[in-house]
Parts: sequence; C-alpha cells; structure tokens
Amino acid sequence: MALQLRPNCEYCDKDLPPNSTEARICSYECTFCTDCVESELGNVCPNCGGGFAPRPIRPAREWRPGVCVAKQMPSDKRVHLKYSLDDVAAHSARVRHIPPEER
Ligand SMILES: [Zn+2]
Ligand SMILES: [Zn+2]
Repeated sequence: MALQLRPNCEYCDKDLPPNSTEARICSYECTFCTDCVESELGNVCPNCGGGFAPRPIRPAREWRPGVCVAKQMPSDKRVHLKYSLDDVAAHSARVRHIPPEER
C-alpha cells in the first residue's frame, strides 16, 4: 500500500503537492508543512505525539511499470486539525522536550 500523499498542511492549509519538498509526515501520515512543524508544533504531531520526517517524493515519471504519481494518485481529501490551536500548543509544550525516540 502506498503513502496517501495528503494535499495540504493540516495546520495552515498550505498546498503540499506530491513533489513538495516542504511536506513532513509522522508515522501515521499526519501531514504538515516544514514551517508549521518547526515554529508551531516543535516537532510534535498534534494527533499522535510523534515526530516528523520529510515526506518522500513520488516520482512523476514511470521509471518502472505501474509505479509513479499517475498510477498511485495522491489523495484529494484535505485534512484539518481536529483540536483547537490552544490544545495543540499545550500538547506540544507537554511533549516537545522529549526526543521522538523516547516518546
Ligand atoms: Zn503549515
Ligand atoms: Zn501523527
């Protein structure tokens, strides 16, 4: 099963197309932009408490049969925070001082 490649930052709603170098994901594929991960979230996912890694870019070109962005289309379902900004800030403050590998 392929990554969903969600279309936007869950925090600021910025577009994050499949070839964006600014997309960051947690292990559950919660998707945010670099700016929000660094300045708003402190590398704490609001949904699971985990850290983020750069989202790999799915190739536009079909280098191998059946695998490219046209064959496994990105998700078109925009995702938005399900917690208030205050709640997200408190959650981040609780967790951000613990390194992701110790959470
Ligand atoms: Zn953002
Ligand atoms: Zn998460």
